[in-house]
Amino acid sequence: MLNPGSGPIRGMGMKLLVSAVFLFLTIGGLYYRVRTERLNRNSPGKEVRETRFYMDTFVEIIIVSPDKKKAREAMNEAFAVFGELERKFSFYNSHNLLQDTNSRSEVPVSDIDLEAVLSRGFEFAGKTGGRFDITLGAVKQLYPIGKENPKPPERRDVEKALSLSGYKKASLKEGKLTKPQGMLIDTGGILKGYGVDRAIEALQKRGIKNVLVNAGGNIRTLGKNGEGEAWRIGVEHPRAPGSKMIAVLELDNRAVATSGDYQRYFFYDGKRYHHIIDPETGEPANRAISATVIAPDAITADALSTAVFVMGRKEGLKFLEDNGLEGIIIDGNGAEATDGLGKEVKIDY
Ligand code: AMP
Ligand code: MG
Repeated sequence: MLNPGSGPIRGMGMKLLVSAVFLFLTIGGLYYRVRTERLNRNSPGKEVRETRFYMDTFVEIIIVSPDKKKAREAMNEAFAVFGELERKFSFYNSHNLLQDTNSRSEVPVSDIDLEAVLSRGFEFAGKTGGRFDITLGAVKQLYPIGKENPKPPERRDVEKALSLSGYKKASLKEGKLTKPQGMLIDTGGILKGYGVDRAIEALQKRGIKNVLVNAGGNIRTLGKNGEGEAWRIGVEHPRAPGSKMIAVLELDNRAVATSGDYQRYFFYDGKRYHHIIDPETGEPANRAISATVIAPDAITADALSTAVFVMGRKEGLKFLEDNGLEGIIIDGNGAEATDGLGKEVKIDY
């Protein structure tokens, strides 16, 4: 007779536990900030879920469907979207579409993803008064985040890189991108959200109605989770990521993203140098420590979480409210939500 809790069952349980702990530590602790709360512990039978690594980030897809084969096929297609975007847009890859775009000052834009990312990128730059700007690549590459013995750049190098940056110096017209030689496009603030939307589209085409896609904290959901309830998303505490949450959001056919200073950074002389650049100074933006945006689609949540992080609490919340969006911004003095959201969720910070 099988002894409950032993043999293959216990073996599988251990495996699941180990991978859950691994996921928790990596997604929660290292880089990422918005994570799914209650990862469907009670309803594994109805779900197909998998996490893969693309674009320097963990991409997690959870599909609720009785038809496992159909769910798997749809999931593979959705993951392929991220694989394709990674190939095209990896910033440090020397042979890809982005590199080719960055090496020239006049670029015919025929690739559909490049066209979409650039046109949406410039659109968000215009809407946010340039707080979100996809032309900051020359500045970004001065900060050796993730490298050994990182050091902040010299001011004169930052100024030179800034002189090559700025969305107003570039134009996208009639299928052609024109920009100063040396300006580097960086899609890091928008590509994950774009990928999530494209993946959701691919899943919908395959008839998937209940799903969550999470690309490094850029999350979009459709329908309900495996328990037939709204998907629940935990917003991490920026100073205790992975162990404490400041709010739990219920997401119904919407998207959420968080930008934070604790995701990618290094310390030098006791100061934190993180990955979100204030386009005015070329230095890491210092008006917020975390910004979460809820929007109808993932590209909007992604671009605007980066933008309102740069804006800071006061200006960022006003921007969200003026645009009919919800969000939470945290700075050194505390956390604050847009009025609409404040009525729905309790923030514990
Ligand atoms: P996110 O995690 O979505 O806030 O995006 C941060 C990434 O976007 C960085 O790692 C950079 O690649 C890029 N980035 C940094 N600052 C900005 C900015 N002000 N506007 C647009 N993209 C930015
Ligand atoms: Mg972003």
